[in-house]
Amino acid sequence: MPLKLTILGSGSAVPNLQRGVSAHYLNINERRILIDCGEGTQLQLRRFKLKFQRLQYIFISHLHGDHYLGLVGLFSSMSLLGRDSKLIIFAPEGLEEIIQLQFKISGVYLNYKIEFVVLAATEKTLIFEDNSIEVYTFPLKHRITTFGFLFQEKTRGKSVNKDKIAEYNLTLPEILKVKKGEDVVRGEAIIKNEILTLPDSKLCSYAYCSDTKFIPELSEIVKNVSLLYHEGTFLTEDKDKAKSTMHSTALEAATIAREANAGQLLIGHFSARYHDTIAHLKEAQHIFQNVRCVEDGDEFVVE
Ligand SMILES: [Zn+2]
Ligand SMILES: [Zn+2]
Repeated sequence: MPLKLTILGSGSAVPNLQRGVSAHYLNINERRILIDCGEGTQLQLRRFKLKFQRLQYIFISHLHGDHYLGLVGLFSSMSLLGRDSKLIIFAPEGLEEIIQLQFKISGVYLNYKIEFVVLAATEKTLIFEDNSIEVYTFPLKHRITTFGFLFQEKTRGKSVNKDKIAEYNLTLPEILKVKKGEDVVRGEAIIKNEILTLPDSKLCSYAYCSDTKFIPELSEIVKNVSLLYHEGTFLTEDKDKAKSTMHSTALEAATIAREANAGQLLIGHFSARYHDTIAHLKEAQHIFQNVRCVEDGDEFVVE
């Protein structure tokens, strides 16, 4: 399973018993990532049975409270429960100062190291890569400095063609080479890797765009993404409110998904003024069919 996303909080501004505030848990190729961490996120992780000590990376979009106020509590709990492995946090400037001040004044020392990486991109920029995933950030347009994120699978191990393996009578060391993408060399003869493997399936990707006003150019940045999360805080009938608070409507989120040729669109960050999301769904489906209005605890898998 290359990519699994769990929605921890689907509401905006204030957490309530129906909806937590922004936080997504992403497992991409066994990298365990938290994206935003609104108040109460550690309880949501428990509620949805996700082990928070296994988190390796946290990405914070911006420093409005509904996207980061859960961090201090989460960090404290991790320390109290014995964490000793490093945590890497990507966030806009200022977060480290906020966190350090909190711990300094309360005289708390964490048992593990937190490494802060300051986001400062003015265009789509690679900010993290290892041998299996890469992460890009890009600026969004909101009331304060805000970043979106694109998580992409880089490579996937080759799947061998079992018939061909039998036909050429490959040894185990040869099969291991084939899985790494290498040709098989037997004296003068070379058996090409593409003969022995199945064609590559599409690599998975996930884009997180919250909070932001409508940015038409965003569709190019997240082109062909498998799973797109785009905030749809408001309905078109409240577009003045969306404009003044620099948020998007469900229709605008769907427009980005259509233009980007996204596999599936997830809409969230709903304003508490709406009692349900039926109208958001209807509005979005006018222009993009494969859309879900998310609820806390929803899981999405991309194979
Ligand atoms: Zn927000
Ligand atoms: Zn915000």
